[in-house]
Formats: sequence, structure tokens, C-alpha cells
Amino acid sequence: MKKSLLIISIALIAFIGCSDSKVQDQNTKIAEDHYHPKGKAPTEHTLKILEAAKANLPFSDTRDFDEASKGFIAGPSSPTIMADAGHVAWDHHAYDFIDEKDEYNSVHPSTLRQAKLVNKTGLFEVMPDKIYQVRNFDLSNCTFVRGKTGWIVFDPCMSVESARAAKELLDANLGEIPVTAVVYSHNHADHFGGVRAFANEEAIKSGKVEIVAPVDFMEEAIAENVYAGAPMNRRGQYQYGLLLEVDAYGHVGQGLGQNVSKGFTSLLEPTKYITEKVEKYTVDGIKMVFQNTPGAEAPAEMNTYIPEMKALWMAENVTGVFHNIYTLRGAPVRDALKWSKYINEALYLFGSETEVIFASHHWPRWGNERVQEVLRGQRDLYANMNNQTLHYANQGVTINEMHNVYETPKSIGDQWYNRGYHGSPENNSRAVVNYYLGHWDGNPVNLIPMPQTESAPLYVEMMGGAKPIIKKGIELFNEGKYLAATEILNKLLFAEPQNQEGKDLLADCYEQLGYQQENPGLRNSFLNGAVELRSGMSQELAASTMSLDLAKAMSTGLFFEFIGIMVDSKKAEGMEFTINLVTPENGEKFVIEMSNATLTNIEGYQAKDADLTLSISRIGLAQAMTGKKTIKDQIADGDAKADGDVGVLSQLASTLVHFSPDFEILPGTKATAKEMDSEDFEVDFYENGHE
Ligand SMILES: [Zn+2]
Repeated sequence: MKKSLLIISIALIAFIGCSDSKVQDQNTKIAEDHYHPKGKAPTEHTLKILEAAKANLPFSDTRDFDEASKGFIAGPSSPTIMADAGHVAWDHHAYDFIDEKDEYNSVHPSTLRQAKLVNKTGLFEVMPDKIYQVRNFDLSNCTFVRGKTGWIVFDPCMSVESARAAKELLDANLGEIPVTAVVYSHNHADHFGGVRAFANEEAIKSGKVEIVAPVDFMEEAIAENVYAGAPMNRRGQYQYGLLLEVDAYGHVGQGLGQNVSKGFTSLLEPTKYITEKVEKYTVDGIKMVFQNTPGAEAPAEMNTYIPEMKALWMAENVTGVFHNIYTLRGAPVRDALKWSKYINEALYLFGSETEVIFASHHWPRWGNERVQEVLRGQRDLYANMNNQTLHYANQGVTINEMHNVYETPKSIGDQWYNRGYHGSPENNSRAVVNYYLGHWDGNPVNLIPMPQTESAPLYVEMMGGAKPIIKKGIELFNEGKYLAATEILNKLLFAEPQNQEGKDLLADCYEQLGYQQENPGLRNSFLNGAVELRSGMSQELAASTMSLDLAKAMSTGLFFEFIGIMVDSKKAEGMEFTINLVTPENGEKFVIEMSNATLTNIEGYQAKDADLTLSISRIGLAQAMTGKKTIKDQIADGDAKADGDVGVLSQLASTLVHFSPDFEILPGTKATAKEMDSEDFEVDFYENGHE
């Protein structure tokens, strides 16, 4: 939609002043089978760390493998799931390499173990004639619970194509029975995106399908990802390793599942909200007890107990991992104590009689003893993270040191389901400090820190320039002191972003650190950093576009908050206008006001002296949000009604900046310097549509 003016910067200087000989001094070598031409094999130091991990982890406990295989009925009937748009949405064989070897020396043994468990693909019986799961057709499971007249789906995968394929596999093996209800466990897209495989507006209206969800589900469905969407997207490329090659030197899964499917993400509004803390409700003839758990894993989430089956659905509150208190892509920090208390409540409400727990990721646990063990273990994991971190914080340990001080008690860490395959103990402990105390460590030097681009040259100058830094960096690398090496090489990176020798050495350090990590988010982040340092940022970086379903879920208020974020204050200086906005079909009223270079909105009011009154339908707003039809076109067609000075919409549009998740994280990694013509970055939801 926009022409991008790319100017190849003449300032882009290839750093040719160094030979490769120094880097080859490192006691590591290019790995011939590595996907990247500069990719290195793990060093002896890395191998030692992985060997030690193998010796210290409870590999003799193989219950997970029994549980993840139990009840297997059938695998997928075709090698891929095709997206309706024509591309491959899911490749069932992408991660075959994980099962080809017992170990890879570039993968933490615990990470590989989890990847092998997640790799178990197909239809599984959880409870005969009652509960079935299709696993590894997407990041999340698609779970089917037998109702009186049809299937009740617990979480319909992330995309319609995966959900549809899951149902086809179920039908092929158990006979075709319709879906009569969908239960959304929580407001993350991998738990609702596939819903249109099972329902549409008509089926809901006629009562053929009902959709049950936790309180505030719809408000939260996309809210978490709107305000800071671009950086979340960009950081997500690091955490999830979205652009890494899938192989033993790159992406070996995400711990929670192997990956996300690339199909269509849909959303249908729930027909029934669970609003009580604990609420009984019958779905397709099956009595259920719902436990709302807001503010733990997600802002809107609920567990479900099915008494007649003695089965407990733990949503994403208890899966086979230590989850995120802090999610690296960026999200509000979660409350570990609250999380622990919800698990404890489930344990005391349902735990004494539950015979199976199952969840939206990973595999079930059978037998009351095992159920109680897992619930207790996870309860204590989150409680310990909260309490011990605060215990140390109360003795002066800061956010910058906490990950070096906090240690998971051995009895907790020895349980595989408590391992950091999604959240990491390192970043979760820092998150607890952040939750209570914020980012400042109390040291004045960190109150208003200098920009790194200004402080780094000072360090580099004091260290005698690039040469001694690289020499010392190689020394540290050879000693296996990769973190120490990154400290000084990062200074060089920020002082001399075009110093490719320094970048390559830093990349080598990141790579070894990546191989050493158990947590996929840390592994992916280090490895992605290495790739960007070696060959620049990927050209594939693109914003995910919002489907009309998701845009419709965005509240009008949220939409205008985001427009307020898109306003460039410098362009809005001196502008003053007031718009009355009405969405006739649901009677929403807003005043949108530009003053002091700031756009604000208030719901439920109308200004007496507005410059413009705009009457537009919610669907019309959604069309503007997704760029399908601009407000200007809607006014021209009579779909929207404008009364007053429409010029204020042009004024507003002229201040808006389009966000794109393709900014540099590591300096000097953009292949070409992008000269930004300010006009190119004006998004015009009014005239050109807002993507
Ligand atoms: Zn999930």
C-alpha cells in the first residue's frame, strides 16, 4: 500500500580491515552441516555443560513418555495441512529430525527430550468414549469431550485449517458426530483461532453450537497485543525463533508445542460467559464446574472440572512446563502468587477425586496420585518463585542480580513438568522483582542512563579500541567465558555497528550460549541474534495482518486508544478538534479530542460543540482497521455519515505513523540503511486504510 523509499546508504562500509585468521584462532570450527555459512559447532566448553546437564537431570523418570504415548489411536492421514490461502499451514514432518537421534550436541538434552514428547502427533484417547485429544496439529491441542448430542471442543487450535484437520482425524476414527459446543479456556489466539472450523454465526444463532468462555474473554482477546504490537512482534521473532531454520542448529520447537500453524485465525463471540469465581453450568447435557483464574496465565482464563468423568481441564494454568511470569516477546508481568493460589484452589476443590488432568498443551496425567503430585508440584513452583525471590529482594538483591541468586529447589526442579520449557527461572525471577518493584535497581547510575550509542564509544576508547577488545574477546571465547565476552563485544557493537569481525565474534558467543540453554525462548533469542549479526536482519520481517474477526473484537475504545498511540505529537502540535463518534447499531458514543498534541477519547459522552459528528457502524470501523474500506470511502458510499467538518479527519490522518516490526535490535544489522521519507510512514486509516 505504501511505496517505501529505500536509499542504499553510501555510509555502509564493509569492514575489510581484518582477516578471518583471528576468528579461526578460536578453538571452534565452521560446522559443515550448519545451515549458516558462518555457523559453528558446539565447543568443548558447551559440550561439557550439556554433558553435566544430562548427568544432573532425572532422565530415569520416563513417566512423561508413557503418558504422552498413552491412548494413541492414529496419526495424520496426510503429510501437511494446507491453508485455505494455498500455502502449507502445518508440516507434519518438519520436526522429524528430532526423533532421528537420541542426542544432538547442539541441543540441550532436556530441550530435546521435551521436543521428542511434543513430537508425538495424532489422535489420542484420554478417556474411553468420553475425551479425545488431537495433538501436534498446531501449537496447542484440540480437545474433544463427548456431550449428550455431540462433541464439546475445548480450545479449537490456533487456525481453522488445523482445527478442521483435527476433526477429520477424529471423525475418520470414531465416526462423524457434530460439534455442539466450544469452550474457550482463555484469551490467547492459540486457544480460539480455529473456532470457525466448528461454528459460524448461523449455527450460533440457531442454537446448534454454543460457545462458553471466561468473563472478559472478548475484551481481552486481542487487547494484550494491540498497544505495543510492533515491538511484541519483533521481539517474538527472537523468543519464538520464527525465522530460524528448523534443525538441530536452529529451531527445535517452542517447548509448549513445536510451532504455530500458519492458517486463518478466526474468532466468534461467546454465547455464555462464566462470571462467578466458581460456577456450575451444563454444556450439551454434561454438568461442568468452571473455575475462573483471571490474571495468572492470561487476563481471562478458566479451569473446568467434569464431575461425572472425574476429569479436570487445567486450561494453560498447569501444562508440562514452567510457564511465563514474564514473556520475552513482551507482555504485562504476571502474578506468580495468584497463579499458585489458583492451582491450590483447583487442588482443594477438585483434586481429591480427579482421575485425569488434561490441558491445552502437552499430554494428560492419569490416576489421582499423579494428578495430586502434578498440581502440588506446580503450585509450589509458582509459590516458591514468588516467595524466594521476594525473600532475596528483601535482603537487597536487585532485578539485575536476581537470576544469579535465585535457584529452583531441587525437589521442584527434579520434576520434568516444572522445567523451564516456556518461562525460564532466570527471567521469571527477575519478573517477580519487576512485578513488585519495577525496573529500577535502586542505583542512581541506572536512573537516567546514557544511550548505549553514546556510552559504548567511551568504553571502547578506554579499552584501547576495537583491536584489544577483539583480542580479549577471542581469549574469553577460547576459555568458554561467553557471557563475559558478550559484555565487551556488545560495547564494540554499539560503538562500531559496521565492525563485522566484532559482530561475527559476538555471534559466535551468542551461538554457544544458545546451544547451552534449556529454555527454547533463550535458545531462540541467542541463535536469532547470531543470525542477525552474521547476515543482517531477515527481509521476511512482516507485520501479521489482523483478520476481520479480530478487528471486530477490538472495542471501539481500544481502537481509538491505539489511534492515539499512532499520533506523532510533533505533527499534531497546534491541532485542536473534537469529534463526536456514534456507532448506531450498538449505541456506543465517544468524544474524541485532539488537544495539546494528544488524542484522547471518552466513552458515553458527546460534546456540544464538536467539529464533526461521525456515525459509523462497528463493522465499518473494523473494515477501516483492517484496511478493507477506508472511512473516507464509507462516507462517500453513505455507509458512514459525517456531519460537520470532515477536514478534521484528514488532519488526524496526517499525524498518524504506521508501525512496522522491522526495526533494528542489534545495531548495524539492517542490510541497507533505510532513509525514511516521513510521508511514507504516514498511515492513513482515513484515506488509505489502516493495516
Ligand atoms: Zn497456549
